[in-house]
Amino acid sequence: MERSDETRTMIIQATLTVAVPLWIARLSDISGEDRDHTIWQWSRDLSDALSSPRGAFLTGGPSTVNATARGLAALACRGGGVQFLGTLWCSDHCPDGREPEPWEALCALCGADGRLLDKDRYIRMAREILAETNREVGRV
Ligand SMILES: [Zn+2]
Repeated sequence: MERSDETRTMIIQATLTVAVPLWIARLSDISGEDRDHTIWQWSRDLSDALSSPRGAFLTGGPSTVNATARGLAALACRGGGVQFLGTLWCSDHCPDGREPEPWEALCALCGADGRLLDKDRYIRMAREILAETNREVGRV
């Protein structure tokens, strides 16, 4: 039976609700350079998963959804956390995910406790990922 995009999105949301907290917990067991490297790699995996055409993301199967879950967990460990498909994850304030307030693009509690000061590092990392992605695209 063929599933609609809406049904697939609901299945992906349900899977991420379970998987992202598990990957956040896995990251909390890693420290130092290993943690930074893992966050970097998982963020790249997320970039790869989401840069595929929308249809491919929805039909990419368990490995695509798992790469997305790991990547979201990696971003959740950065100041402000990450929001995706209506759920906000922040490793410090909502590792199990929650519905964000309508005005809340990033975790507001991170802003309140100054954790968003990590923003510069986050932006540098995003730029490095983008530059690397552009190099990869240039090779194709
Ligand atoms: Zn937070």
